[in-house]
Amino acid sequence: MRKQFAVIGLGRFGTSVAKTLSALGHDVLAIDSSESAVQAVVHDVTHAVQADARDEETLKALGIRNFDVAVVAIGHELEANILITVMLKEMGVKYVVAKAQTALHGKVLERIGADKIIYPEKDMGIRLAHNLVTSNVMDFIELSPGYSIVEIIAPFAYTNKTLGELNLRARFGISVMAIKKKDNIIVGPGADALIEEDDTLVLLSKNDALAKLPE
Ligand code: ADP
Repeated sequence: MRKQFAVIGLGRFGTSVAKTLSALGHDVLAIDSSESAVQAVVHDVTHAVQADARDEETLKALGIRNFDVAVVAIGHELEANILITVMLKEMGVKYVVAKAQTALHGKVLERIGADKIIYPEKDMGIRLAHNLVTSNVMDFIELSPGYSIVEIIAPFAYTNKTLGELNLRARFGISVMAIKKKDNIIVGPGADALIEEDDTLVLLSKNDALAKLPE
C-alpha cells in the first residue's frame, strides 16, 4: 500500500531515506531550510519544499498531520530536532521517527513522544561489526541487547538438510523464521523444510550463538 511520508532535514541521512522511500513507490514530502538541499532531491520525491520546519504554521499549511509517518532527520541542530518532534506529535502525526545524536538526546526524544528513535552511526557500527565477525551475514536487526534477527546465506554444510536434521533450536537456540528461495519464501518453515544451495535463512538468534554456525 502506498504510504505518505514526510522527511524533514535533507542531510546525508534524510536524503537517503527520502530517495529510498520514493524509489519504493511511496509519496514523499521532503523539507529543508536550505534551497540547495531541496534542489538536490526535487526530481526524486513527490514534493520538495524549502521551509524552516520550526515554523508551526508552515507545517500545518503543508498538511503534515495527515501523513502516516514523519522522519525528523535533522542531526546537528538539537533544538530544531526536539522542537519539530514535539510539534509533530502535538499535531497528531501517528508515527514520528527522530534521529538522535547521543543517548541523552535519545532519552529526551523518547520523553517527548517520538515513536522511534534512531542512532544512524551507532546502528551502522553495530551492523558492520556483526557483519565482520559472522560470516555470511547479509542483514542484521538488534531486537534487544542479547537477541537479533539476522539474514544469512545458508552455510554450505547445511545444504540438502532439513531443519529437523539440523535441529538448530536445540543445539544453538536459533529459530529459523523463514527460508528464502530463488522464487519464493517459506515463512515459519516446519521440520521437513529442506535447505538448498543459495537459500537465504532468516534467523532469530542469541547474538553469541551466531558465531557457532559453520561458514
Ligand atoms: P546529516 O548528518 O544526516 O548530514 P545534518 O544534521 O548535517 O544531517 O543535516 C540536516 C539537514 O537539516 C540540513 O540539510 C539542514 O539544512 C536541515 N535543517 C536544519 N534545521 C532545519 C530546520 N529548522 N528546518 C528545515 N531543515 C533544517
